[in-house]
Amino acid sequence: MRLPRSVIQRLRDRGLNVHEESGCWGRGSEMGSVVGTLFHHTAGSLTSQAPSRNIIVNGRPGVPGPLANVYITRDRDWNTVRDDPGVGDVWVNIVADGKANHAGEGSGTVVGELAAGRPPSKTAGERGLADTTVANAALWGIEVENNGVGEPWDPDVLQATGAVCQVLGLPVTGHKHYTRRKIDPYGLDAAAIAAVVAGDYTTDDEEQPMRAGDKGPKVRHWQRRMIALGYARRPDGSTVTDWKDKWADADYGPATTAATKRFQDTDGYRPTGEVDADLRDRMVEAFTAQRAAEDRQALAARLTRRFGDETGMSEAKIRQLIATESDEAAREAVSAALADEYAVTIQRRDTA
Ligand SMILES: [Zn+2]
Repeated sequence: MRLPRSVIQRLRDRGLNVHEESGCWGRGSEMGSVVGTLFHHTAGSLTSQAPSRNIIVNGRPGVPGPLANVYITRDRDWNTVRDDPGVGDVWVNIVADGKANHAGEGSGTVVGELAAGRPPSKTAGERGLADTTVANAALWGIEVENNGVGEPWDPDVLQATGAVCQVLGLPVTGHKHYTRRKIDPYGLDAAAIAAVVAGDYTTDDEEQPMRAGDKGPKVRHWQRRMIALGYARRPDGSTVTDWKDKWADADYGPATTAATKRFQDTDGYRPTGEVDADLRDRMVEAFTAQRAAEDRQALAARLTRRFGDETGMSEAKIRQLIATESDEAAREAVSAALADEYAVTIQRRDTA
């Protein structure tokens, strides 16, 4: 099998920047039955947004490329050009739809556990597992830019990583859980990886209160959530709508304080303009609810593109059908509705 092209739209539906590396479709030999996803860090230097791109696409001496199916870059503006916020941003790069040399030798036991839907809770080293197989043809590989020696994980990078894992839809584990030869992904144990995949991983840093004067990726993450929830305003009073807008400048100033107060206000809390753990939890709740609504809208748009012409059903009607359903239930509701539509059409034709 190969990575389906539909992942592009599904990732863009989640608001991610997606780049198709030249030649990605058809790169790498045919995969076998894919049973899981392996999460790696690149160990790339902090010098730029995507220092590992060339190696991941083309390989290195002794290991031919591609070295991953998906490559996620860090945000250049925070790591290297702090005076120029808004430049860079996290990108999801599709490198290869076929087999990539990312897993190498590792434990067949772990591959079996992934196939059974049970990612391991300990590393291969902790379990004393020997390398007994080479699983490149059975695992998607995601390489995420991180130097692996202390670079703090950017919440936006982890959010993109989780979204990719969700779209791929298979059990996820770390390289170090597959083979004791490896230590990646840096600083993330099995529980943390599961939280990244679920989209609710919180860095230790993020748990600390935030207030005017604070700077850094966690501030920008908060600012982007305020944009997404509609609380970010420009000096002229207009609402900021693009989450990539440079309003989110990683600097907790008066505009961020005001946006935070608006959020606290609508939520019936005392508007302090500061973020504590409780407010952060409420933000995650509000954002998750909004995300789910947007996912349903995106699903309606996809189903309309797919079925709209042949059934004459409008996007509004399809949206109505899936208004309160999960992704899976929505598909069933739409196919049931489609069956009805066909039945009516056939009936009309037969009785005409
Ligand atoms: Zn690795």
